[in-house]
Amino acid sequence: MKVLVVNSGSSSLKYQLIDTSSDAILARGLAERIGMASGRLKHVSEGRSELVLEQPIPDHVTATDLAFSALVDPQHGAVSTLDEIEAVGHRVVHGGEKLTRAVRIDDEVIRAIEEMSALAPLHNPPNLMGIRACLERMPHTPQVAVFDTAFHSTMPPYAYMYALPYELYSKLGIRRYGFHGSSHKYVSARAARLLREMGHEGDTHIVTCHLGNGCSATAVVNGRAVDTSMGMTPAEGLVMGTRGGDIDPAILPFLIKKYGWSADELETLINKKGGLLGLSGASNDMRDVEERAGKGDARSRLALEVFCYRVRKYIGAYAAAMGGLDAVVFTGGIGENSPTVREMCCQGLEVLGVALDPELNASGRGERCVSCEDSRAKVLVIPTNEELEIARETVEIASALQVG
Ligand code: ADP
Repeated sequence: MKVLVVNSGSSSLKYQLIDTSSDAILARGLAERIGMASGRLKHVSEGRSELVLEQPIPDHVTATDLAFSALVDPQHGAVSTLDEIEAVGHRVVHGGEKLTRAVRIDDEVIRAIEEMSALAPLHNPPNLMGIRACLERMPHTPQVAVFDTAFHSTMPPYAYMYALPYELYSKLGIRRYGFHGSSHKYVSARAARLLREMGHEGDTHIVTCHLGNGCSATAVVNGRAVDTSMGMTPAEGLVMGTRGGDIDPAILPFLIKKYGWSADELETLINKKGGLLGLSGASNDMRDVEERAGKGDARSRLALEVFCYRVRKYIGAYAAAMGGLDAVVFTGGIGENSPTVREMCCQGLEVLGVALDPELNASGRGERCVSCEDSRAKVLVIPTNEELEIARETVEIASALQVG
């Protein structure tokens, strides 16, 4: 089945056309700077030259129109008509407690996604803009929403509840939801498979560490998420590019009293000014941080250490939460590409049976095991593929519709 996967952000729209019979990416593209004075669409179809259009893109409908024109373009396209696209899968960040699995999008689903915007004001509204634009242009093609939170819906209440007055949960839905679900689902399934191929028998206890611009860790037992580091919003947990993750909550009222900061200023502090950027004072990009740390910059070194120490603590905590550890998975731009980070995250984990092989860790590409042969818990590097996961879930829903 040819599935278009759409990831619509506030000022960008990313898409991939995937043939799920072979997992091949037929085309991919990115519309950037939507709503700004100058915009750009970059599109490339398999085996064809790249198309770059520089022009203002006032809204998401224009962005989808440009993407659709590129997809059917005789020179740069991947299909002859849009009818060849059998389903569209939309990444939606927050599904809350109502939407815990992929669903076909209808008016009721749109309303539910809108309701969840209260908990994800930066993400759900732009996701909906992409959905509405695609529905307008392809009203007869099944459109499916795949939620970042869905994979985590199997967490037990003792893992997702905050120890706050219960009414804050029952009235406002304040609880842990977790994010990056498609990534954790994809890499944990691949890891379970690799473990079996390596002779592992019985239950699987896996910690998946998605380390990109946003970072999160998830504990997965037999394919089901039992805990995850992001919370009601994607701000909790690990250190990220510009988010600091876990902090003492009392720091916030302290700052309000001290400086009279508003909710908006605190949000900026939490989401934009912390993490690698806040600590290093130099960059939110791990490559820069590593480079500066290597040249002796003390604050970049500190940023690297805080980042890795936090990951290591979560791995230890999740091993205890799961009652076992069979594999640690590294994925995302940092997890897949930084031997230094993987090594620092695994320091001290010998106690849990983790023995990283320095040579394997420093070499190789793609999906691989980088722990010693006799390491009780394996260390796996697994490039994530959120789009493929979304495409597969979309096919499941769309095929069920055809059968039904
Ligand atoms: P996103 O979460 O936006 O999808 P990515 O998964 O692409 O982002 O991750 C981006 C992060 O990956 C950046 O911090 C970048 O510095 C880091 N990264 C990419 N390549 C390397 C590398 N070779 N070494 C260290 N960090 C890397």
